[in-house]
Amino acid sequence: MTQSPSRVAIVTGAGRGIGAAVAARLSADGFAVGLLDLDADAVKQGAETLTAGGGRAVGVSLDVSDAEQVERAVARVADELGPPTVLINNAGITRDNLLFKMTDQDWDSVIGVHLRGSFLMTRAVQKHMTEQGWGRIVNLSSTSALGNRGQVNYSAAKAGLQGFTKTLAIELGKFGVTANAIAPGFIATDMTAATAERVGMDFEDFKKAAAEQIPVRRVGEPADIANLAAFLVSEGAGFISGQVIYVAGGPKD
Ligand code: NAP
Repeated sequence: MTQSPSRVAIVTGAGRGIGAAVAARLSADGFAVGLLDLDADAVKQGAETLTAGGGRAVGVSLDVSDAEQVERAVARVADELGPPTVLINNAGITRDNLLFKMTDQDWDSVIGVHLRGSFLMTRAVQKHMTEQGWGRIVNLSSTSALGNRGQVNYSAAKAGLQGFTKTLAIELGKFGVTANAIAPGFIATDMTAATAERVGMDFEDFKKAAAEQIPVRRVGEPADIANLAAFLVSEGAGFISGQVIYVAGGPKD
């Protein structure tokens, strides 16, 4: 097995929620971590916390759908921490509405952040991975990829990320790079809290109702996703590539 020459990870959308939990876990596992997010203060603070805990980290603000900002952010992480060999494409937004009410902007911004953002980030980081002859890419899909009322934009983006992941696995495998997708079900974060608010429900009641539909009878926590991400970027996961793993407390098709 080839050892990674550079243990540097980039996590997008690391300002809060799942991204923040993944960044903290990878730092605890010994990776230097570039925390990237729209929210400059959140990632600055996140990086300071990881550094105070004995890790190496840098916070960089960017919009993942902007090619120039992506190139600049990846170059900064490479300069300050070393060449990135792990990429977690996690930044995400929702702009839910039924098809007949969905605006062009709702469509474009969701596709732009999830699909264009993951494409731009991966294109920028892959050159470091291929130079190092080792890499791990993890893309955040969703159970919504299987279809979800009110999310024609988001479900298309999350299904698109599954095809994106499989193609990355095929193209980059010979360079020692794997690509996999994690498809979470209900995870308690600001994103699901916003959904509760949109449907006029108290978040605790919303979570309780969701848990009743989930075989393990609880909703997910960001750590449930961080646990799998930590495994997928590990040395031992090197023969797993092009997979979509549902993390939803039960089976999904
Ligand atoms: P969250 O709490 O809303 O956090 C998303 C993060 O992404 C925020 O910090 C946000 O920055 C950042 N972001 C949004 N647009 C960005 C952009 N253009 N450039 C850079 N950063 C951007 O969401 P989450 O629940 O942790 O979700 C993380 C990922 O998991 C997403 O891809 C989501 O679709 C996926 N997922 C979540 C669930 C769930 O139940 N929560 C289920 C399935 C899949 P700001 O703070 O500045 O807005």
